[in-house]
Amino acid sequence: MSSTTTQSVAQLRSTNYNATLTERIDITPDLFRIRIRPDGELPRFEPGQYVVLGLGYWEPRVQPSQRESVPEKKLTKLIRRAYSISCPMFDGEGGLLTCQAADFWEFYVALVRGDDADSAPPPALTPRLFGLTVGDRLFVGSKITGTYTLAGVAPTDTVCLIATGTGEAPHNAMVTELLSRGHTGKILNVTTVRHRRDAGYRAEQQRLMDRYENYRYLLLTTREPENLDPKHPDFVGRQYVQDLFTSGRLAELVGDPLSPDNTHAYLCGNPAMIGFVPPGGQPLTRPGMLTLLQHAGFTAEEPGCGHVRFEKYW
Ligand SMILES: Cc1cc2nc3c(=O)[nH]c(=O)nc-3n(C[C@H](O)[C@H](O)[C@H](O)COP(=O)(O)OP(=O)(O)OC[C@H]3O[C@@H](n4cnc5c(N)ncnc54)[C@H](O)[C@@H]3O)c2cc1C
Repeated sequence: MSSTTTQSVAQLRSTNYNATLTERIDITPDLFRIRIRPDGELPRFEPGQYVVLGLGYWEPRVQPSQRESVPEKKLTKLIRRAYSISCPMFDGEGGLLTCQAADFWEFYVALVRGDDADSAPPPALTPRLFGLTVGDRLFVGSKITGTYTLAGVAPTDTVCLIATGTGEAPHNAMVTELLSRGHTGKILNVTTVRHRRDAGYRAEQQRLMDRYENYRYLLLTTREPENLDPKHPDFVGRQYVQDLFTSGRLAELVGDPLSPDNTHAYLCGNPAMIGFVPPGGQPLTRPGMLTLLQHAGFTAEEPGCGHVRFEKYW
C-alpha cells in the first residue's frame, strides 16, 4: 500500500466512490446479499438488467485469499465488474417489494475463490467486496443496462427461468415484477446450487409459493448426500438441469411441459449450463441448455413465446 502515499486511501475513496453499503446479509462465508444506496436519485431500469460495481485496488482482500501482485500503476485504479440487480422480494410488512420500488439496489454475490495453482489472474473484486461492512463506500456505474428483461412477455405466458448460483439474481427481480403485475401464466424459477445452504432466497421463495399458485421455485443440488451417495435412501444423483431437461424430469418437477408454444425461457449464470457456441465455434461435447432448448423448438432470435434469452456471468 506504500505506493498510494501520493494520494491517501481516504482521498481515493472520496474521489472514486458514489454509493454506500446499507445492508449486508451473509448467507454463507462465500455468499452474500448486499444492499447499496447510490448517492442521488435512483435511475429507472428494467428487472433483469445489470450495473457495474467497483472498488479500488487499494482496498484490502478478505483473508485467506489468493496471492495477488498489483502493478504500481494499477494501485490507484478501480476494479469494475457487472452485477445483475436482484430483489429483496418482500418489504418489512410482508408485502411484495419489486426491485424498482425499493430505495436501494440489492445484489447477490458469490466470493470467487481462485486457485493459487491456477494460471488465471486471481479474482480481483469479490475478495475486496466481501471485506465491506455497513456504511462503507463503493463505486456504482451510472448506466444500468442489458437486454435480459421481460420485454415481450404477455400476462398469460409461461416464464421459465433457469439459473446456476447467483444467476438467480435477475430472475428474482423478474419474478417479483411479474407477480406484482398480476401475471397469470406460470412462473417457473429453477436454480442449481452445490448445497441447499447456497440458496440465498429460500425463505422468500417458499413464501412466494405459499402465496401464488402460479409460482414454482425448484432448487436443484449437486453436492448433497443424496446427490453423491448411491446408498442414500433418496439418492437422485447430481441434479444438472441439462440432464433433467433431456430426460423429461424437469417438466415433471415443475409440472409443465415447457413448450415453446407458450413459454419464454431464460438462462443465467455459469456458461457451461448455458452452453453458448459462438457462430463458427465447435459444438460442445456436453451441450448446454441453449442447444437443448433450441432442439426442443425454442429460438434465440425472436422475441415472443419460444424465445430463449441468456446472460453469461463469465
Ligand atoms: C452481466 C453480468 C452480470 C453479473 N451478475 C453477477 C451477479 O449478480 N452476482 C455475481 O456473483 N456475479 C455476477 N457476475 C460476475 C461478476 O461480474 C464477476 O465476474 C464476479 O463477481 C467475479 O469477480 P472477481 O473480480 O472477483 O473475479 P474475476 O477476476 O472477474 O474472475 C472471474 C472468474 O470468476 C469466476 N466467476 C465469475 N462469476 C462467478 C460467480 N457468480 N460464481 C462463481 N464463479 C464466478 C469465473 O471462473 C471467472 O472466470 C455478472 C457478470 C456479468 C457479465
